[in-house]
Amino acid sequence: MPGIIVKPRARIFHGHDWVYASEIRKLFGDPKPGDVISLKDYRDRPLGTAIYNPESQIVARRISRRKQKLDKEFFQRRIGQAIDLRERSGIDPKLARLVWSESDALPGVVVDRYGDHVVMQTLTLAMYLHREMIAEALQERLDPVSIILRNDSPMLSAEGLEEEITMMFGEKPGPFIVEASTVEGGVKFEIDLLDGQKTGLYLDQLDAHTEIAKLAKGMRVLDCFCNQGGFALACAKAGAASVTAVDSSGPAIEATLRNAELNGVEINAIKHNAFDYLKHCEDEYDLVILDPPSFTKNKKSLTNAMRGYKEIHLRGLKLLSKEGIMATYCCSHHATRELFLENIVSASVDAKKSLRQIASHGQRLDHPVLPAIPETEYLKGFVFQIIPSR
Ligand code: SAH
Repeated sequence: MPGIIVKPRARIFHGHDWVYASEIRKLFGDPKPGDVISLKDYRDRPLGTAIYNPESQIVARRISRRKQKLDKEFFQRRIGQAIDLRERSGIDPKLARLVWSESDALPGVVVDRYGDHVVMQTLTLAMYLHREMIAEALQERLDPVSIILRNDSPMLSAEGLEEEITMMFGEKPGPFIVEASTVEGGVKFEIDLLDGQKTGLYLDQLDAHTEIAKLAKGMRVLDCFCNQGGFALACAKAGAASVTAVDSSGPAIEATLRNAELNGVEINAIKHNAFDYLKHCEDEYDLVILDPPSFTKNKKSLTNAMRGYKEIHLRGLKLLSKEGIMATYCCSHHATRELFLENIVSASVDAKKSLRQIASHGQRLDHPVLPAIPETEYLKGFVFQIIPSR
């Protein structure tokens, strides 16, 4: 098997599974893009098996600490283990991320289940080349109505892969309805897996919807960056006094309105840039939810991203009633928990408000964090209440 001799002090010696170009001491055996290769240290000791793509900054991603082939049995076993974990952790297996890349030891493979339909992504070259085998393993284990390959992530270009949306199994599904058990009585969502504009749901936030809905009864709620209305719908169903939802995407607002109707609740859904909405809003709210997209994909744009967070935190706090609550989420790995908390404190100083933290949220268990691979941790959220007497 061809492979790589890894330089001493590379991150793989600290439990990581990636090898960057700068960490390669020597290639041997002439590996080809997409190959399965072996990793060795400079004294020729084996470090395991990896997938190889010299086009990517991450040249090798380890798939096993032992010798391993990418065969059907491998995918059956790894996919099986990933699904077993979801089933054990009490997550509704019909509305969940079943496989999440490095966290399930399948780098680049992401599998989501929405009811009877499965959506897979293969975001690394080797996994893309094995997409048929992956689909077969999924089909055998899950017996779904359809399996869609939805390769439309910005990660693809880094691996030299093209965007592609195709059916791997079954017929093209039209729009269909799933029910999330986030609040009593459930929340229905219309899902359209093939429409270019809207993917499925943000599965990683389903637990947060539940937690926030618990606080929403009788409250005037503002859900900023609402997407298809995840927080807004849960709050409305939980008995909020009023719910306003803001998103800059037309299709997201249309979906929110359709979902509101589907659930028999009223949501004032507004297509607007959330920054502008927060700036010019003259209404008061008791619960403000801020769940923006990642403002930064790399370290370089971090300063600007933190400016963005500061702006929405400050504006959000100013709209709150006396004992109002702000729930704020950050899905960028580069903006760390510490930086994000500092940012909130700084906004509260400018807004002249004292905050008490009443909850902290993270990724749902179907997006497991690997402590040795910090990149797997991205989502953090905090819920703060204004302390009225100060
Ligand atoms: N809260 C949602 C997920 C939000 S995803 C949930 O729990 O399901 C982020 C959303 O922010 C996307 O729908 C995107 O359209 C929207 N968005 C991005 N930039 C925006 C902006 N400047 N103003 C308002 N919405 C924005």
